[in-house]
Amino acid sequence: MNAKSTAPDPHAPIEHTQLLIDGKWVDAADGKKFDVYNPSTGEVFCQVAEAGPDDVDRAVEAARAAFNGPWSQMSPLERSKKIWRLAELIEENAAEIARIETLDQGKPYGISLHSDVPSAANLFYYMSGWATKIEGETIPVSAGNGFHVYTRREALGVVACIVPWNFPLVIAAWKVAPALAAGNTVILKPAESTPLTALMLGKLALEAGIPAGVLNVLPGFGARTGQALTEHPGIDKVSFTGSTATGGRIMDAAKGNMKRVTLELGGKSANIIFADADIKKAIKGSSDGIFFNAGQACAAGSRLYVHEDVYDEFMAGLTEMANNIKVGDGFDPTSEIGPLASQQHFDRVSGYLRDGVDQGGRALTGGGRVGDKGYFVAPTIFTDVKPQDKVVKEEIFGPVVVAIKFRDEQEVIDMANDSPYGLAGGVWTSDVARAHRVAAAFKSGTVWVNCYGVFDPAMPFGGYKMSGWGREMGHEVLHAYTELKTVCVNTYS
Ligand code: NDP
Repeated sequence: MNAKSTAPDPHAPIEHTQLLIDGKWVDAADGKKFDVYNPSTGEVFCQVAEAGPDDVDRAVEAARAAFNGPWSQMSPLERSKKIWRLAELIEENAAEIARIETLDQGKPYGISLHSDVPSAANLFYYMSGWATKIEGETIPVSAGNGFHVYTRREALGVVACIVPWNFPLVIAAWKVAPALAAGNTVILKPAESTPLTALMLGKLALEAGIPAGVLNVLPGFGARTGQALTEHPGIDKVSFTGSTATGGRIMDAAKGNMKRVTLELGGKSANIIFADADIKKAIKGSSDGIFFNAGQACAAGSRLYVHEDVYDEFMAGLTEMANNIKVGDGFDPTSEIGPLASQQHFDRVSGYLRDGVDQGGRALTGGGRVGDKGYFVAPTIFTDVKPQDKVVKEEIFGPVVVAIKFRDEQEVIDMANDSPYGLAGGVWTSDVARAHRVAAAFKSGTVWVNCYGVFDPAMPFGGYKMSGWGREMGHEVLHAYTELKTVCVNTYS
C-alpha cells in the first residue's frame, strides 16, 4: 500500500454539482438535491442535483439523438482520438480528480492520485485503440457456393452505466470507455454517496471534443434514478456493478425491452497459501488483497486458506502487518486506508464484526471502529470460524478477513469453491504444476498466482456463478457493447 502523498486543500470549492444532460449543466426537473457526506468526518460537504424520471427521459432523448447523429457519423479514428484525449485530460486533471474522489469516497489521497486516476486514464487509452479495430468476419458456408456471408459488429445504442461507490471513477471508466469505443452513447449513474468524479468525467469528455449528449451524467438514488434507467424502454443496455441483490432487481427491470445486461456483482474470494509458498510475499500480497481500499473491493481476498504447516508463521506475519496499517483521514498523508464509504455501510460492516464474535470467531486483531467520528474500521482477522458462519459465507466488503487452516489440495479446492460467488481467487505456491492445477479448479472469473488484485485494461474481469454476467475490460468487453449482425449475400447471377 503506497498511500502517502502531499495532500491538497480538502475545502476548496466543488466545481460541478448539477446533472449533465446533452452537454449542459442543469438542475433536476423537480429541483431536488441530496446531501453528500465526507466519510472521514460524517459531515455534509456539498449538495448534488438528484435526477428523477423526467431527467432520465431527457437524458435518454439526448443520448439517442447523439447516437443517431454526431457519434455514429464520426469515423472510428476520430472517435478513437477523442477518447484518447479524454484519457490525457484525466491525467492533466489528476490532482483535482483525486481530491474530490478522496473527499467523497474517503480513500487516501495518494491512492486516489497514484492508483485510481491512472487506472481510469489507462482504461480510456487502451479502449481508444479498439475504436478502430471492431471488425466482423467473412464466413465460408456450405449452403451454396454463391453465398457471401459476413458479420458486422454494431454499436447497441444508448447504454446506462450504473456504478458503485468503492472505486467510483475506475469502475465508471471500465464501462464508459468500451461503451464509447464501440460507438454507443452513455448515461452514467454514480452511486449517491460518491457522485463527484462521474460529473468531472462528463466535463472532461466535453473538453475532449466528445459531442454533447454522448456522455450524460445523472447522480441520484438507486431505487429512483437507477430503477428509472433500468426500466426505460429507450435504453438498450445496462452495465451494472454492485450487489448481487441489486443485480437481480436490474435483471427484472431490464426485461421489459430485453435490454442487454452486464453484471459485475459481489464476491467472497478465496486466497490459498500452500506450505511451499514464499511466505513473506504471500503475507504482503494477502494483506493488500483484503485491506486495500478498506476491503471495499469486489475481488477482495476475504477468505484465507492457510496450510497447517505454515499457519502459525503466516498468521503471525499477517497480524503484525494488519496492526501496522495506518487507518485515518484520506487527507492525512500518513493514512494507508481510509474510512468506509458511508454510515450505512459502516453499520453493515459493524454488524458483521458482531456476528463474527457471536458465532464463536476470535479476532486476532481489529474487530471494531477506529476513533469516534467518521466511518473507520480497524483491519480485522477472524480465526476459529466455522464454514457456515456468516463472516465466512457472506460478502462483508470491509477490512475483514477470515482465516482457515487446511491440510491437502483437494480439501482446499472444495472449500474455496463452496460459495455462491465466483469472482476471483488467489493461490500462493512455488510448485508450478500445482499453481496451474489449482487455477484450473477454481470456479471463478480470475485467478491470481503468487500475486493478488492485479488489474489491467487488457485483462478481462468478471464473475462465475452469482458474481455476475459478462466480462469487463480486455477485447472481450467489446462483445458486451456491440450486437453481431450476419449478412448473407446471394451472389448467384
Ligand atoms: P448496490 O448494489 O445497491 O449499489 C450499487 C449501485 O447500484 C449504486 O449506484 C446504487 O445507487 C445503484 N442501485 C441501487 N438500487 C438500484 C436499483 N434498484 N436499480 C438500479 N440501480 C440501483 O449496493 P449497496 O450500495 O447497497 O451496497 C451493498 C453491498 O453490495 C455492499 O456491502 C457490497 O457487499 C456489495 N457491493 C459490491 C460492489 C462490487 O464492486 N461488486 C460494489 C458496491 C457494493 P445508490 O447507491 O445511489 O442507491
